[in-house]
Amino acid sequence: MQKYFFLTRVNVKFPGNTYTLFYTPKGVLPYSKDRRILYNPSYLCFMHLAETSLTKRDIRKLKPDELKKFFVEHGDKPFRAIQVDEWLWKKSAKSFDQMTNLSVATRELLKEHFAINHVHVDKMQRSTDGTIKNAVILHDGLIVESVLIPAEKRITACVSSQVGCSLACKFCATAKLKRQRNLSADEIYDQVVAIKEQAELFFNRPLTNIVFMGMGEPLLNYANVTAAIEKVTSPKGLGMAMKRITVSTVGVAKMIIKMADDGVKFNLAVSLHAALDKTRSSIMPINDSNPLSELADALRYWYHKTKRKVTYEYVVWKGINDSEEHALALLKFCKVIPSKVNLIEYNPIGDEEFQQADDKVLNMYMDLLEKNGITTRIRKSRGKDIDAACGQLANKN
Ligand code: SF4
Repeated sequence: MQKYFFLTRVNVKFPGNTYTLFYTPKGVLPYSKDRRILYNPSYLCFMHLAETSLTKRDIRKLKPDELKKFFVEHGDKPFRAIQVDEWLWKKSAKSFDQMTNLSVATRELLKEHFAINHVHVDKMQRSTDGTIKNAVILHDGLIVESVLIPAEKRITACVSSQVGCSLACKFCATAKLKRQRNLSADEIYDQVVAIKEQAELFFNRPLTNIVFMGMGEPLLNYANVTAAIEKVTSPKGLGMAMKRITVSTVGVAKMIIKMADDGVKFNLAVSLHAALDKTRSSIMPINDSNPLSELADALRYWYHKTKRKVTYEYVVWKGINDSEEHALALLKFCKVIPSKVNLIEYNPIGDEEFQQADDKVLNMYMDLLEKNGITTRIRKSRGKDIDAACGQLANKN
């Protein structure tokens, strides 16, 4: 029988580099020759040895021309940069030793000058429903969480865009963590890579979808989120389809307008949760600066430019938005532009104020929306037992 264990991470420091080893209750994991993935069939664990450094320059921050220049200056051919680029992005190399088509001397030269500050999974937890939550450690020691959600026909990566969050939505566990910084494009990309590898290793299936619904507000880190998406969809990166990617926002109106102007091709979801200003402001402070009228205008602009629907994420809580008045307000808002609705099951975060509404209330919402032609789905949350479900990510592992 296969067993899953939480892994203990041990950092081993050598000059300039930190190597990370993982231990199971039966000793250190065996590792493959190229040190990329350590895998023992009797213990479903995976890991890599990451070469990270705070002092050396991260090679992935170099532009292609800078890398070419580096090789030329060191007496090598410019095309070496293309080989390295392929290792860094398409093959997601985490150490220079993996770059086996480079000579040992070239690998040593790279090690001398650069680091690969790839994130790595510090701890992995697996839910009884198959969901995997990763605590991902960044090169500066900060931690974010990302989640692999398996379903019959898809495997979805839910990734974070910021360390913590500044927007203070009252129902959200992440809001309890102060925002510390934005994730870089590489760090976002690396979360996707880690989940892609887990999908292949544990499910023997490819990663199919990506949602930006982890920690942080993606539109407050727009440049890095879009740069990461560009890499994920590039044939030089993971080559995933744009239509498989969804960015979810609490509704930063001016950024929705910018996305429309930029002609982005990924999907847009809005965490709405209330279509009456008074209620929405009471649970989501962003609504004070971005009231529903401004959000509606931004969405009209989005649809005018992109001709693409929006998905509203909506949780119904007892005593907060469980009245018919709220359901009617949602219906009215759904008519602003073509849209669909996900009614999401709520996962308590230890706050008595927020309790999932009864099924009959959900059915009232569902009937009203469906009768009026709005496609509506009730989404059961996944990974509740490991605090990996929507709104639960708070580095509690
Ligand atoms: S719901 Fe999103 S935007 Fe609101 S606090 Fe949580 S992470 Fe931030």
